[in-house]
Amino acid sequence: MVEGRIHSIETMGLVDGPGIRTVFFLQGCPLRCAYCHNPDSQNMFSKEHISPQEVLETARRYRSYYNRTGGGVTFSGGEPLVQGEFLLETLKLLKKDGFHTAIDTSGFGDERYYKEILKYVDVVILDIKHFDNKGYREITEKSMGRFYKFLSALNDFHGTIWMRHVMVPNITDNEESIYKLFYKIAHLAHKIDRFEILPYHRMGVEKYEELGMEYRLKDVPEMDKEKAKEFENMLKVLLDIEKQKFHHQKYII
Ligand code: SF4
Repeated sequence: MVEGRIHSIETMGLVDGPGIRTVFFLQGCPLRCAYCHNPDSQNMFSKEHISPQEVLETARRYRSYYNRTGGGVTFSGGEPLVQGEFLLETLKLLKKDGFHTAIDTSGFGDERYYKEILKYVDVVILDIKHFDNKGYREITEKSMGRFYKFLSALNDFHGTIWMRHVMVPNITDNEESIYKLFYKIAHLAHKIDRFEILPYHRMGVEKYEELGMEYRLKDVPEMDKEKAKEFENMLKVLLDIEKQKFHHQKYII
């Protein structure tokens, strides 16, 4: 049976999906986000491995917490979609046992497994890095192809989407960017339950120094929290209008 490469496990997570959750942080990520807080999780190799059955057994130990709070199991990273085969096997086991499941992803993984994986996921927490090729490459050092494929796989997704975007000064902190972002995700508005704009901060800088890595945003200041909130509210209004249009059309049909 396929095993997963694991970075760490958090047993009482409260932010990576609804309720109390066990969060499995998988090792390895193909992106190189300029502001990544966990550059040590990018490397594809790990000494620690875990089997789908071991994930299931861990989840079973915390079932009473999940049941009381509407929680469950979340896969985060690194990038969980990179380990597509392991993720799929594990999600199937968890769903068979009745667990609520979530993936916390940047939508950039092994595209062969996207559609099948989404059949066994209740909540997708999708981190939108950027919404045009140039900006995406500047932030992640990769092109957008695999991300677009994940975005289109979400067309057939029957669960709920939480979205996040890290707003970086002088990169996406402007109205034009908010509209560009909105047009990329408007068709999914009826599935989006939450949208958060996370203001860029510099708390990860020391880690880069410790690891001897270059920090590409060293001259960029932190994002103003109030301003980020204003942009978040603007986007939420646009999404609400789109949701109303969707429900109205459904009613007419
Ligand atoms: S997707 Fe996440 S783990 Fe990967 S480089 Fe970006 S911030 Fe780091």
